Amino acid sequence: MPHKDSDPFELDAMIALRHDLHAHPELGFEEVRTSDIVARLLADAGIAVDRGLGKTGIVGTISVGHGGRAIALRADMDALAMPELGEPKYKSTVANTMHACGHDGHTVMLLAAARHLARTRQFSGTVHFIFQPAEEGRGGARAMLADGFLDRFPIDAVYGLHNMPGLATDEMAVVAGPQLASSDSWEVAFHGIGTHGAKPHLGRDGMTAAAHFLTALHTIVARRVDPLQPAVVSACAISGGDFRALNVIPDDVRIGGTARAYSAEVREQLELEIGQLAAGIATSFGITASYSFKRRIAPVINDLKATETALAAARQVTGKPVVTDFPPSTAGDDFAEFGNLVPGCYVWLGNGPAVDGALHHNSRYDFNDAAILTGARYWTALVEAELR
Ligand SMILES: [Zn+2]
Ligand SMILES: [Zn+2]
Repeated sequence: MPHKDSDPFELDAMIALRHDLHAHPELGFEEVRTSDIVARLLADAGIAVDRGLGKTGIVGTISVGHGGRAIALRADMDALAMPELGEPKYKSTVANTMHACGHDGHTVMLLAAARHLARTRQFSGTVHFIFQPAEEGRGGARAMLADGFLDRFPIDAVYGLHNMPGLATDEMAVVAGPQLASSDSWEVAFHGIGTHGAKPHLGRDGMTAAAHFLTALHTIVARRVDPLQPAVVSACAISGGDFRALNVIPDDVRIGGTARAYSAEVREQLELEIGQLAAGIATSFGITASYSFKRRIAPVINDLKATETALAAARQVTGKPVVTDFPPSTAGDDFAEFGNLVPGCYVWLGNGPAVDGALHHNSRYDFNDAAILTGARYWTALVEAELR
């Protein structure tokens, strides 16, 4: 890929690549084509490439000078299992698979910055470019760590970035503290004694216990969690009985849902309270309950010092004042797996106005190519500021 001095980030080629990735989306741990392209374009720029971390994950590495400090910049590569209903000329060619979260843009921005830094080398130290698989709930970050990412590539800080509709493409938000909620799932099963629907007194009704549990569930956030601490508990699935047997009270009723928090303490509390409530209600109905809480993604909490560095880099490259009071999101990002182990900062880059109201994970969402330059310049400025 040729580059011209007037076009330090190879913008035309990077936009074409973004469209190509958009047209060929791949789900988590299946990013075979995407990671082949990334590896080739890193190697082509003289960047050391390590593959196979977390199956399809890639780490590109540049070391310059004698600086002993090492940092990692992370982009995610995966798409979502959903149909694309918009009509861009580079529309997804894969059924029920779509880049609806803009990870095609994340991949390209980090690649553009990596290739630029490989040419300019205006820093001293080591930078690792993480191209992570499977951010969308499939555990890509955890898989890279399980494959020894931190042992093989020791780092002093880690940085992440996500596109955000509603901010301009030359606008960023950089905020210290909680950015994204934890994202955990829980499941409760009420075990009653099934009986004839006409003779409830001969069994133990788990159905009614489940109903009480569902309404009481919301007292956890309303009455147990500190009102100054944000938290969400939602029930999202319920099953029990059979619509072909409306005269049968079933033995078991299952309920499952999600729990979200912005601190380790509240996360802990939600895990405890949901289980206690289920057990208490089961007892009051003379039945039993089983409970499981699956910790999936920790909250993303930005480190103070890493945030200062990110903020300075953002100020250097954006056309608008950097937003420093952007509200935290109840979404999750497994960037937290890295950020929990080393100081980190996760920032927002504008994606322009939400076209037709389409937000992340909407079947008409699209990454905005106008943001590529800001993103690539941000990554570059960050490396040059972090590794002096
Ligand atoms: Zn997403
Ligand atoms: Zn995303």
